[in-house]
Amino acid sequence: MFNNLCSCSGRELGVSYISFVAVAGAMGDSLVVRMAGRRIGMDVAGGELAYISHAHSDHTQALGGPAPIFCSDITADILGIGKAEEKEESGQEKIENPLLPKADSPVPLLPAVKEKIPRRSRKSHSVSSIEPPAKWQQARIPIPEGIELHSAGHILGSTQLVGMSEQYGRVAYTGDFKLRDGLTLKGAPIISCDTLFAECTYGDPAVAFPPPENVLEDMERWARQNREAIQLWGGYSTGKAQELVKFINEYLGETPIVGGKAAEVCAAYRRAGVNLQWLAPDSAEAQEAMRGAFLSVMPPHQLSPLLAGRLAAVHRRKVLSAFATGWALVRQLPVHAAFPLSDHADFGELLQYAKESGAKRVILAHGDNEKTAAALRAAGVNAQAIESLEPQQMILKIGE
Ligand SMILES: [Zn+2]
Repeated sequence: MFNNLCSCSGRELGVSYISFVAVAGAMGDSLVVRMAGRRIGMDVAGGELAYISHAHSDHTQALGGPAPIFCSDITADILGIGKAEEKEESGQEKIENPLLPKADSPVPLLPAVKEKIPRRSRKSHSVSSIEPPAKWQQARIPIPEGIELHSAGHILGSTQLVGMSEQYGRVAYTGDFKLRDGLTLKGAPIISCDTLFAECTYGDPAVAFPPPENVLEDMERWARQNREAIQLWGGYSTGKAQELVKFINEYLGETPIVGGKAAEVCAAYRRAGVNLQWLAPDSAEAQEAMRGAFLSVMPPHQLSPLLAGRLAAVHRRKVLSAFATGWALVRQLPVHAAFPLSDHADFGELLQYAKESGAKRVILAHGDNEKTAAALRAAGVNAQAIESLEPQQMILKIGE
């Protein structure tokens, strides 16, 4: 689905060379690409142009700024880039939790979210008719000449950026990535390159994610064993929530209740061709489901003993919470069950990418960079933390 990404041209930009500049500062590790004298923020604000590798908020600092943006079609759809700004408030951010009744409501099963769903579709979980979100008026430009975008395998629409450098050869910048297949997208292809800029969120050699199929089997077993209970599945609204909806659809044969931003992103996935089934909290089907042991996918920050207690009191049924995240391998989480289903590469995948790409040099960002670099060096990879680069090492002239 990313084949079209490489066909765009940016001749109008007058590209003559590209420079990669590492900036270590208040924003943390970040990259700025210099192209024909123009600065391109790589998932950061501050450039004259902005590249957004994917729709997670820690990569979208440039939203709302003056810089035109380039990214994949799906990322633009999820983020609402290039659309007229909406005047109307959706109200979703003001609702604490869509599964709970309002404080003054006598109705125990009350959907509370005002969704942007046409009335005709509210009887059904088919919401493919939802219009794309419209949030940002920023211009979106074609992918500049000399740059290719390939899937990063992280969330739908995520990309890695590739360009040729006179000084560093072929350069790949991964953004967030993973090589493993997910339920809604394939893992990233390994791009052969000479210099690799890679994220290392889970770059600790002690962290090794189990095969996804094993994690999904564990999730299915737990879900079926506790099917008499209301189940609240926590996952970040963009990416993980859609993996959870797909899991619930395909492994459990059920349809979860999903509201707010996660439902909007589910709709974007559907527009991109990923078949997801969910119920809007204020639909008649959701109300019916809430009379029994329903399942819901929600942001992890909403998972709390307080919410579980309130829901249990309202629905007079046991309530269990589960969280799908790579952090399940790293720390204790305050939920009934935690599963290490991650959208990031672990150390093994990073090592695999470094070796199979043929990169002569690997530069690490977005993690414990020096620790990961040392571990890669021990494995025979010429790796360094991005903050160790000298300014004169950072110029990657392309096309001169
Ligand atoms: Zn991400």
